[in-house]
Amino acid sequence: MKYYSTNGNAPIADLHKAVVKGLAEDRGLYMPEKIKQLPKDFFDNIDKMSFQEIAYTVADAFFGEDVEADALKKIVYDTLSFDCPVVKVKDNIYTLELFHGPTLAFKDVGARFMARLLQYFIRQENGKGQVNVLVATSGDTGSAVANGFLGVEGIHVYVLYPKGKVSPIQECQFTTLGKNITAIEVDGVFDDCQALVKNAFMDAELNQHMKLTSANSINVARFLPQAFYYFNAYARMKALGKADNLVMCVPSGNFGNICAALFGHEMGLPIARFIAANNANDIFYNYLQTGRYEPKPSKQTLANAMDVGDPSNFARIYDLYGKSHERISSLIGGATYGDEQIRQTMRQCYEETDYVLDPHGACGYQALVDGLKPGEVGVFCETAHPAKFKEKVDDILGIDVDIPARLRAFMQGQKQSVPMTKDFADFKQYLMNQ
Ligand SMILES: *Cc1c(COP(=O)(O)O)cnc(C)c1O
Repeated sequence: MKYYSTNGNAPIADLHKAVVKGLAEDRGLYMPEKIKQLPKDFFDNIDKMSFQEIAYTVADAFFGEDVEADALKKIVYDTLSFDCPVVKVKDNIYTLELFHGPTLAFKDVGARFMARLLQYFIRQENGKGQVNVLVATSGDTGSAVANGFLGVEGIHVYVLYPKGKVSPIQECQFTTLGKNITAIEVDGVFDDCQALVKNAFMDAELNQHMKLTSANSINVARFLPQAFYYFNAYARMKALGKADNLVMCVPSGNFGNICAALFGHEMGLPIARFIAANNANDIFYNYLQTGRYEPKPSKQTLANAMDVGDPSNFARIYDLYGKSHERISSLIGGATYGDEQIRQTMRQCYEETDYVLDPHGACGYQALVDGLKPGEVGVFCETAHPAKFKEKVDDILGIDVDIPARLRAFMQGQKQSVPMTKDFADFKQYLMNQ
């Protein structure tokens, strides 16, 4: 499969290059040249297939030309060592629980897949030196990537995160690991971290000094595998006889997750329509209303993993639908919720259904409550376990959320981080000395 850049000014790349480079030379995002349709009998029988079988079929459509079948199967099965179940919350509203992985958030799927695929390519190159993964995080990306890559030979990971702006539980998941993981604590906001990473990739001198790659959701090996669980959601809803008029609602920040769902739709996945649920960062919501995409500085909210003021993957969605506002707005709806509404939603859902939402999932749930039409069935993603935001959730609901054992283990480690300004010159100097 060949990959082109959304900016249209970079050479076509193969999968290997797209994964190692992350971002194209013209700062565009890589897009697969074609999207394979999956056959009708796959969808007819999908409800009888396991998650891993479904995922392998989807992975084969994207990566089968470039990765040997046995290796790809192993990558998929190793990645999905946990389930992504669909759970009923109330009549016609279900949740796709994406928090059963090692760091309790959906990013585990993409991060684990990318680490394994990158290792596959590095092994093919054999001994051409270390690959350095740079990742900017607003919270959950850092933990998922750091854990996905932990101990993987030939790869060093630098996690850049905004000082004081991620929860203590999130922070310990990437600052306590050691080994091939370095946490960099940036005196700024998430967008500053993202800018440092983007600038690093564009800096010729730095790229001569070290081999850099990105593990942000812009990387095709991270965002595409997220399509797997939407097929699984469809399969499980089909088994319940509830898949005929399905609305998929995705709490969105950088728009990688919903973008993968849309790729699934292009492969033939029968989802009737999508909703991108946002917190107070309403850039996409405004685009849907006005047809104008106007990035803004990110606002800090309760759902902090979605605090993004210039969602990178908008470029992919725009490209996928031929830049047509009409096509985009007829398939995807929007919603935007402030912190007070998020709190109220969490309380109301808990009172009515006993289901404990995290602040991100709350946006998704509320968007379905507000937006479902008669005859539709909605599935929203629970993108993180509520225990990842324990202080907030306990405070809002007046309960004591159980911390799963795998999360508790991180909290006992020793924090190690490198302080950094948001000035690119400082970051570059630090990397040049590595
Ligand atoms: C990353 C994240 C999101 C946003 O996902 P995008 O792919 O960036 O849109 C939502 N919820 C949680 C918990 C996250 O970690």
